[in-house]
Amino acid sequence: MIIKDLFINFCIISTFLFFGNALFRSVRNNQHINPLILKISTGIFLGIFGLVQMQFTFKLDNGTLLDLRQIPIIVATVLGGGLTGIITTILISIGRLWFSTSITLVSFFGIANACITFVVAYFVFRAQLSFQRKWLITALLSTLNSLLFFLIWTGFSKGITLLLFMVVLFSSFIFTCVLIERLRRYNQIYDAMSKEVQFDFLTGLYNYRGFMYKYNQLSQEKKIPFSLLLLDIDYFKMINDQYGHSAGDAVLAQFAEVLHNSVRSYDYCFRKGGEEFAIILEYVEEQAEAIRWAETIRKNVEEYKFVIPDGRTVSLTVSLGIGFYPLYSCEELLDKTDRALYEAKKGGRNQFGIAR
Ligand code: GH3
Ligand code: MG
Ligand code: MG
Repeated sequence: MIIKDLFINFCIISTFLFFGNALFRSVRNNQHINPLILKISTGIFLGIFGLVQMQFTFKLDNGTLLDLRQIPIIVATVLGGGLTGIITTILISIGRLWFSTSITLVSFFGIANACITFVVAYFVFRAQLSFQRKWLITALLSTLNSLLFFLIWTGFSKGITLLLFMVVLFSSFIFTCVLIERLRRYNQIYDAMSKEVQFDFLTGLYNYRGFMYKYNQLSQEKKIPFSLLLLDIDYFKMINDQYGHSAGDAVLAQFAEVLHNSVRSYDYCFRKGGEEFAIILEYVEEQAEAIRWAETIRKNVEEYKFVIPDGRTVSLTVSLGIGFYPLYSCEELLDKTDRALYEAKKGGRNQFGIAR
């Protein structure tokens, strides 16, 4: 019987943590959501988690009931902070009174237990310890806290039940800790991998995949007008040949910074590959405006002193091709702009060409 109850409770914990994590991840980067609202909703979500758990009490012997309402309180306090923890604690306390057939001293024991759990989690998780240590200390203190109320209520008479009580409670805390640790690890791996898929390791700019994604998104889905700048560093091979490959890498990273600092904060800069870059300037439709941006970038690159690992500085120039969407369709714009860049190279480098 107790194994069945334990299984059901572990299923509830897993379900709430899994969907809570998925929900949180889908909204956390949404800038329209106020962080305060997010904290409050997390508190309510975990409060509901506690209320559901209270419906699945453990029957340790004929008279002794146990539920795992402390878990959502700890999770709320640890992951959401003080406010989230308080909201979950209040909801669970109200639920405790609401579900009681009659309000007795035991109901208030339940509320006191919930409040103490919150205070313990809040203060333990402020300590400078590892996540596992803090969780272990919170689990131990929360188990002792529950045990204290249990003893006040039943006395020492129920030895075996007492043991069961501690084992169930403690193992549930540890199960939750392991689950949260796993979810956090998967989140980290997922974030790192999705970053790697779209970003270039050396420069931190979007990579070719990121470029094609943005290019297709703007020209095919959103149909937003933009200027496309394709850039190719002039005689870059000489930097590698003269100063070495690592000097070339250092120059590429600084070149990316120059690009980034030459355009508006919301413009997109890409490293298409090697020493070839691209910039998309949304809503820049006028040729004169696009030329102004291209000239700013060209001059900034020309004037910049690139520092190589041995401390020396080198100078560079860049050639650019400029093209426009929707003046040219998504299919022809890339080729035409590439040809404009080729013309700029042929014309002597350190200049721009316009797609036609
Ligand atoms: P052009 O003015 O015609 O563009 O001449 P270029 O020398 O810049 O062009 P080329 O295509 O001949 O050479 C590009 C060089 O860029 C060759 C390659 O070794 C170097 N390169 C490509 N990717 C990297 C990189 O990640 N790091 C370093 N250090 N060099 C790279
Ligand atoms: Mg090239
Ligand atoms: Mg080049």
